[in-house]
Amino acid sequence: MTQPKLELVALRKEYDGGDVVAVDGIDLTVERGETVALLGPSGCGKSTTLNMIVGLEEPTAGDIHIDGRSVIGLAPGKRNIGLVFQDYAVFTHMTVAKNLSFGLEIGGLPRSEITRRVGEAAELLGLSSLLKEKAAYLGGSQLQRVAIGRTLVTQPAILLLDEPLSNLEAEARQAMRRELRRLQGKIGLTIIYVTHDQTEALSLADRIAVMSAGKIRQYDRTSTVYGDPAHVFVAGFIGSPSMNLVRGEIRRDGPAISFISDQLQVPLPSRFAGVAPGHGEPVIFGIRPENIMITRPGHPGVTGIVSSVEPRGPEAIVTVRSGNKSLDVVVPAADRPARGDEVVLRIPADHIVLFSGETDRNLSLSPILGAAA
Ligand code: ADP
Repeated sequence: MTQPKLELVALRKEYDGGDVVAVDGIDLTVERGETVALLGPSGCGKSTTLNMIVGLEEPTAGDIHIDGRSVIGLAPGKRNIGLVFQDYAVFTHMTVAKNLSFGLEIGGLPRSEITRRVGEAAELLGLSSLLKEKAAYLGGSQLQRVAIGRTLVTQPAILLLDEPLSNLEAEARQAMRRELRRLQGKIGLTIIYVTHDQTEALSLADRIAVMSAGKIRQYDRTSTVYGDPAHVFVAGFIGSPSMNLVRGEIRRDGPAISFISDQLQVPLPSRFAGVAPGHGEPVIFGIRPENIMITRPGHPGVTGIVSSVEPRGPEAIVTVRSGNKSLDVVVPAADRPARGDEVVLRIPADHIVLFSGETDRNLSLSPILGAAA
C-alpha cells in the first residue's frame, strides 16, 4: 500500500481554556488522489479542522501527517497545501493572468516556468481566453476558477476547498461542480472539500466524513453513508427528506421482536434479535421515506391519516400521522393520496435501521466500522 497523503490522528482543538471543544479527537486518513468531503452543520468543527491542517491553528492534542511526516509546528507556507476560500480573495484590479502569476512571481520562480504553469492552469480551467481581462469584470464562477487556478499553479500536495461554491447561484454552482469533477479526473489531485451541503458532498466526494459536535460520526464511501448510516445523526443529516427516526423501545415476546412507540408498533425481522437490546430498552427506529409504501385500509401495516401532501415535481412527500407519530413517505406524484385519507403504510423489513437509544449508534454495525464515539 502506498502511504496515505494525509492522516489526522486523535486531533483535538480546545478554545477558552477547554470550555469550548471545537474538535474532539478525530481520526481521518485521506489517500493520494482521493476527494474527501468534511460534511456537517455550522459549528461542528469543519473550519477548525481545516485551519489545523493548513497550519493557521495549532492543535491542542493529536497529530497531522502529510506524506507520512508530522507537520505540527511547520509554518502554513511550508506545508504545500493550497487553500481556496468561499470568498475567493481574487485581486479585482489585476488581470486574470496577473492573478494567476502573482504568487509565483513573489516566490521568485523563473519567468518561463511561470508562463508555462499559468498557461496550463488557464487551459485546465477554461480561462485561456480571459487571461487579459480585469478580474473586476468576471462573474462569480469565473472568479472562483481564478481562485482555484491561482492555487493550482503553486502545485500543492493537497487542495483544500472551504465551502467553495456557497457564494454562487444555483446554476453556476452546478456548472462548477461539473468543472471540479472534470478537474479531479484530469489531474488526480488529493482534495479535501469542506461543506455543509450534502448534495455537494455526495456528488463530488469519494468518501465523506460526517461531523457533528466536533466528532466524526461516520467516515465512509458516499453510498455507505447514505445506505448504512452508522449514527443517528448521519441518518437524519443525509437524505432529503431525511430518514424517519422514531424513539421507542424494544418488545420481546418469545422469539418475536418488535419496535413500539405509543400506538406505533412494527414487527422487526429476526436479524435484529441478536443485536437489539432487551425488552423495554430504548431504541430509535429508522426508515427512509422512499422505502415506505402506501396501501389502502385493510392491508397489513401501520394505519394512519394523511396530514400533508407536498408535491415535488415527479414525486410527492406525504406525511402520515399514526397516533402521535408522523412518518414521511415519498411516492410518485401520480399515486399520491389526498389530505385526510386513511392509509396503511407498509414498512419493508429489509430497509429498517435500528439505533441504540443510549449511544445513538447503528445496532447492526460493529462499533469499529463506525468511527469514533
Ligand atoms: P464549522 O466550520 O463546522 O461551522 P467551526 O470549526 O467554525 O465549525 O467551529 C466549531 C466550534 O468551535 C463552534 O462551537 C465555534 O463557536 C467554536 N470556535 C471556533 N473558533 C473559535 C475561537 N477562535 N474561539 C472560541 N471558539 C471557537
